[in-house]
Amino acid sequence: MIFAPVGIAHLTRDNTDLLRAAACGKQRLRVTTAAQLNGTPHIGTVVTVLSVFAVASHAVDILNLPATVIFDALDNAPAEQVEIDGEVYTRTVGDLIDSGHIDRADRVSGFERLLRWAADRSQVRYEFRPYSIYQALPPVRTCLHIMASRLDDFRPIVAPADGIIRIRPRCPECRLMEKSAKNLSINAGDGVVHLDSLCPVHGRYAETIDISGTDGWYDANTPVRSIQKGFLLAAEGELYQACSVSVDGADWGGAWHAHVLAPALATLGIPAAEWPVSVFTPLLLDRSGGKLSKTLYVRYGAAYADLPEAFLNLDVLLDQYGDDALDAIWTEVTRWAAEPSRLHRSYTVDYLADLIRTPANAPALDRRSV
Ligand SMILES: [Zn+2]
Repeated sequence: MIFAPVGIAHLTRDNTDLLRAAACGKQRLRVTTAAQLNGTPHIGTVVTVLSVFAVASHAVDILNLPATVIFDALDNAPAEQVEIDGEVYTRTVGDLIDSGHIDRADRVSGFERLLRWAADRSQVRYEFRPYSIYQALPPVRTCLHIMASRLDDFRPIVAPADGIIRIRPRCPECRLMEKSAKNLSINAGDGVVHLDSLCPVHGRYAETIDISGTDGWYDANTPVRSIQKGFLLAAEGELYQACSVSVDGADWGGAWHAHVLAPALATLGIPAAEWPVSVFTPLLLDRSGGKLSKTLYVRYGAAYADLPEAFLNLDVLLDQYGDDALDAIWTEVTRWAAEPSRLHRSYTVDYLADLIRTPANAPALDRRSV
């Protein structure tokens, strides 16, 4: 392996150096990550989740503080798309689980299996937090109210293309949500946020979000949720005497951090010393150099990056390779967690395939011709 020199790796001897100042005087580490519940985890998600626990576990050792991993299970991800009169409407994973149209176990059991394995191996406890709980947390709603009160300040940050801030209610009758949000209006009142929208079947409807309570539900799209999470983690630093760390794939660093999260935290007036620490884990790349994507695999099938199915589906990976596969990935990510030159780079799927030992009864994870 060759490690090209990168700036941040020169600044640090150990990755925990990036947490050191924020952890000073704190009682605990709260390490947060998130994933959409859009099916069985694929290898990229597996690598990210194991990296989160590895980063937490390494920080426990170096900083001598207890840690909890908070896994935000995004069941507000779209699970169904409906087109009516040329407009696109969606229903969420959570709504389709509630209505019995999809099986909760199909969406959740793969993640739970992975989280239990990682917690057991790392000896770091975790909390599984569904989106319905997240959207009702007091700091998350406080941030919602601030954004709703200052829509024009946040438009260029969360919606640079069309200026439409997507904090969407769903139809109380049929739970359809308007994807474009063109009929959405957002109004901040005293201690509440009013959301008004239009259902193609049931007409106009309104939702009231109580800022100091848990009444109401809204879907925050990705930039809004990301900003709320930054606000939440900053608040939790004080609330739990915690060093708040968010660990996500490197696609949430770079442009996302520069254009969305950092400007938003500054606009919210949060002092830099209270910003959560962001740690970005290596991306897993397909053979074209793009981020490994399950969506692309589903769309283009086996032609996409010439990958074995085990890489797209945790269940298949474990059926074919057993826990040895997780052991092999764990050994690798624990090195990423400690060493700056290993953390601040990407890895190809072929590199990962070479790490996963091949039991005698499993098909070889070899390099097939592209
Ligand atoms: Zn409706």
